[in-house]
Amino acid sequence: MELIKTEMTPKERAAAYARGERVDRIPCTLTAGETSSPLFGIDISDYYFSSELMVEVESRLVEETDADNLGMGLGLRTIAEALGTKMSYSKHDVAKVDVPVFKSPHDVDGRELVDIHKDGRIPIMLEAFKVLKEKYGDERKIGTGSAGPLTIAGNSIGTTKLLKAMIKDPEGAKKLINFCADVAIKVAKDLWDEYGISFSFAEPLASKNLLSKEMFDEFCLPYLQKCITAVSSWQGGCSLHICGETKDRWDDVVNMGISGFWIDNCESLGELKGLYGDRISITGNIPPVDVVLYGTPEDINESVKNILLEASDNPRGFCLCPGCTTPVGTSLDNMKAIMNAAATYGRGAVKGQLPEGLKGYC
Ligand SMILES: [Zn+2]
Repeated sequence: MELIKTEMTPKERAAAYARGERVDRIPCTLTAGETSSPLFGIDISDYYFSSELMVEVESRLVEETDADNLGMGLGLRTIAEALGTKMSYSKHDVAKVDVPVFKSPHDVDGRELVDIHKDGRIPIMLEAFKVLKEKYGDERKIGTGSAGPLTIAGNSIGTTKLLKAMIKDPEGAKKLINFCADVAIKVAKDLWDEYGISFSFAEPLASKNLLSKEMFDEFCLPYLQKCITAVSSWQGGCSLHICGETKDRWDDVVNMGISGFWIDNCESLGELKGLYGDRISITGNIPPVDVVLYGTPEDINESVKNILLEASDNPRGFCLCPGCTTPVGTSLDNMKAIMNAAATYGRGAVKGQLPEGLKGYC
């Protein structure tokens, strides 16, 4: 599949869109990093341990898709691994938690925070960030996304154990989650100071599918809030992704002061826009499995068109993106089809208005 050529660099597009000017196409990000390495003949387990392979995958994604985002994600497990969680790696799938580092929430007593130059795979990623910055820094903003404090805590002690601790030892659980918030903030600050890498959070454990609203209020909100406030203070904003159902906690999430909310495809962009579109930018939410992974180019066109009709006129801005991580096995053609649909239906986008590319469809 041929990629439709666009005129602006991602940096130009982001700046002009933020100023309220018309841009060549709607901002569009692909959440593909390690999950796409097999497309370029690289085993995922090799990718994780080689800065050269990370740079190669990111460079190929730039060349082949021209998506607006650039930079490896720390993802859900990198910080927990840097704390000492043992991971299992396989050639064709993302890493999984093998042995969590903590046996008890109280193991965090006296623990040092993470050192980005020493711990886990972060030094390898740092090297790759440095090269990407030299290679693309003029044209592209480099960013990363990481698990929020609750998810880091889950991957540091085991999710079941964390959920049990919330019932049996709530103060211990809070101490652990607060420690993970401090770790995340330090990593974000150090990456920012070192290479100007911007940070966003994903907190899948904060979903209604896993945590009641009461538990969310007690064990997630204060610690995630602390992270959002800290990171926003140097970046000027911080966005958040939560998988699954979230609607019953949107009010709290928006009140944390996030700049953008990336929601799952099971939630409605239109509803989020109607309720909070004057306060936050919205990112989403092409169905990752049914459309991004298994869809035909026609399915992708239809999905992108409908999403843009629903929410691309969000007053505080919109970014097209899959509803979660781009799944392993997604073809390059499907990624190109997403970018082409963004260039077609999202052509001539302005914040707060439907793009010119939707004329005749609305
Ligand atoms: Zn997700």
